[in-house]
Amino acid sequence: MPVVAFSAVSKTYPGNVTAVSDVHLSIGYGEFACVVGPSGSGKSTMLHLMGTLDRPSSGRITIDGHAVAELSDREVSALRAQRIGFVFQQFHLAVGVPVLDTVADGLLYAGVPLRERRRRAVRTLTRVGLGHRLGHLPHQLSGGERQRAAVARAVIGEPALLLADEPTGNLDSASGAAVLDLLRDLHASGTTVVVITHDREMAEAFERKVEMRDGRVVTDSGRLSSLPSDTGVADR
Ligand code: ADP
Ligand code: MG
Repeated sequence: MPVVAFSAVSKTYPGNVTAVSDVHLSIGYGEFACVVGPSGSGKSTMLHLMGTLDRPSSGRITIDGHAVAELSDREVSALRAQRIGFVFQQFHLAVGVPVLDTVADGLLYAGVPLRERRRRAVRTLTRVGLGHRLGHLPHQLSGGERQRAAVARAVIGEPALLLADEPTGNLDSASGAAVLDLLRDLHASGTTVVVITHDREMAEAFERKVEMRDGRVVTDSGRLSSLPSDTGVADR
């Protein structure tokens, strides 16, 4: 079962702008994939659809085994809160809130008690290299540190799918490379990562490249990891 399955998905915005057109796409658990294309090619719309932030105009979307169209708004919100993590170009960290609390809040909807939320926030911030910045406010962090805190908040709930839209777009190249390394580490430990980027050079860092043009997938390097090891057949 894939974590993301699009079947003939299209999205048309008011004003008759077709941002995504007849996309078929399947992304498996554990993949390290990017969606790459020029500005306006429909990448962010793809991320919104994968993240259940928006519904398609036509076609079928299945996320983590759930046919999104068959869920109520409340069920979609729960799916999103529990199974999907988001990182955006703008860091969206609450002003005046220590990063420890911002990251701990990533577990609010999971019903985890405060003490445990904070304990896990310390662990996750340590994992992203911010163990020495727990009490810092967003404005006391560098851009790269802020984005690593945003990644920590996105993954603290161990989502089935981590979606990142131009996560290095506001960073200098060294900080951007560090964030990319972090995403690669998360992938290595089993997180499914899908990154949106317009940067063709950055796209080379991914195991799978889905290339978009004018709302359509024009090339897809496909899934690299072979099925036998995924199913454990090779171990028997
Ligand atoms: P990308 O992220 O690749 O730059 P987008 O998915 O943001 O592409 O946009 C694809 C197309 O859809 C663009 O032509 C854009 O202007 C249009 N678009 C995006 N969002 C909206 C919206 N909310 N309403 C109308 N048009 C939109
Ligand atoms: Mg975009």
